[in-house]
Amino acid sequence: MTETTLPNPVPPITPDTTEFWEATKRGELLLQRCTSCQSVIWYPRMMCPECSGTSLEWFTGSGKGEIYSWTKTRKGLGDYAKAGPFILAYVQLEEGPKVMTNIVDWTDEDLVIGKPVEVAFTPTEDGTALPRFRPAK
Ligand SMILES: [Zn+2]
Repeated sequence: MTETTLPNPVPPITPDTTEFWEATKRGELLLQRCTSCQSVIWYPRMMCPECSGTSLEWFTGSGKGEIYSWTKTRKGLGDYAKAGPFILAYVQLEEGPKVMTNIVDWTDEDLVIGKPVEVAFTPTEDGTALPRFRPAK
């Protein structure tokens, strides 16, 4: 494992993401489902990207998924400029959507396409938490 200190920036919270970020305080990964076409949606928003429906319902996701793709990022930007090498990945959630995120607590053996991962919340200064993923136990 490479020593990395990821920043934990406070997320920008908008009316359509308030419920999501409130749930992170409880360690829950909320997802949205379109009540018209049943698509599971990531990231949180006001309108279904599949059918443009505006009737979305929240539900608590399993927090489980697998690595869909990953890369080791050696030089980040902004808050991530001093992080050192870190893992940027797409995780495909059990519920379907692919989430761009970081993999944490990894070893080289963990960085494999299809490797099971689980959500790991990192607290921020405002009490919310950033959903990242670690190899499943
Ligand atoms: Zn829809």
